[in-house]
Amino acid sequence: MEERPGEQSRDSASQTIPLRLQRRRDFAPGLAALTFDGWSVAFRSGQYCSLVHDIGGERIERHYSIASRPGDPLELYIVCVEGGALTPTLFAMAPGDGLRCVGAPRGKFTLEKVPAGRDLWLVGTGTGLAPFLSMLRAGAPLARFERVVLVHTVRKGEELGYREELEAMQAASAGRLRYVPTTSRDEVPGVLRGRVTEALDDGRLEAAAGCALGADSQIMLCGNPAMLDDMKARLHDRGLELHRPHRPGHVHLEKYW
Ligand SMILES: Cc1cc2nc3c(=O)[nH]c(=O)nc-3n(C[C@H](O)[C@H](O)[C@H](O)COP(=O)(O)OP(=O)(O)OC[C@H]3O[C@@H](n4cnc5c(N)ncnc54)[C@H](O)[C@@H]3O)c2cc1C
Repeated sequence: MEERPGEQSRDSASQTIPLRLQRRRDFAPGLAALTFDGWSVAFRSGQYCSLVHDIGGERIERHYSIASRPGDPLELYIVCVEGGALTPTLFAMAPGDGLRCVGAPRGKFTLEKVPAGRDLWLVGTGTGLAPFLSMLRAGAPLARFERVVLVHTVRKGEELGYREELEAMQAASAGRLRYVPTTSRDEVPGVLRGRVTEALDDGRLEAAAGCALGADSQIMLCGNPAMLDDMKARLHDRGLELHRPHRPGHVHLEKYW
């Protein structure tokens, strides 16, 4: 029987649904936004979906933060990992090609879990921007926090995906959303140069954001685990600890590997 994306038919054994690639937007070689038909599952911004594909007779399952706004077609922001088990196959797909996805969203990296505060810092490395895109597209951060700082940290300028969209959001926010891109390798006009941890250490990050990271801040960090650990250590030095359900804190993490 042919699987038709959109009808949400569930394979009860594996609990997956069929998806079909609708379109692909390349930001740089090996860095793209992939949009799929077939996902009309309710989710909260910050959650992820799990793609499933048989490659060489092996079932490969990988998780991807959802970049789209709830209700919009499923959009994922993906980097192709050289020699990776799944991503080279994803990048070889053409519109119309299909794969499967676990039929329920997963994850707790959502704004609902974040305690109240004045400022919200969203810090994403590379494709770790994705959950924050979903939140910002839905308008949720500015509905809850006075000021929102989005830090997108990458190596090269071409990896600053969605830059125009984010700059447009900033321009429409009456100064309440600060978009702070950083590049560790390239010199790019209007972009902080160097590792984000160095920019935090020497004060450039807070100067660019126009606000301090302190007791009034909630901080969500997503992406590269080494960077998240480095940031977490620095935040700990400022008295900003991991948030836990039984011990409210300021720092929230989503590690990609
Ligand atoms: C909750 C969660 C959400 C995730 N969301 C995203 C997302 O939105 N976009 C995305 O591209 N990936 C995301 N990932 C990572 C993704 O699940 C896969 O690990 C990644 O696509 C590599 O899969 P692969 O099979 O090609 O490589 P594998 O054979 O599984 O190789 C894994 C290795 O690839 C590297 N790697 C994995 N993810 C990345 C990455 N994002 N950037 C750079 N290097 C990486 C690491 O060195 C890792 O050890 C997420 C992971 C988790 C746990």
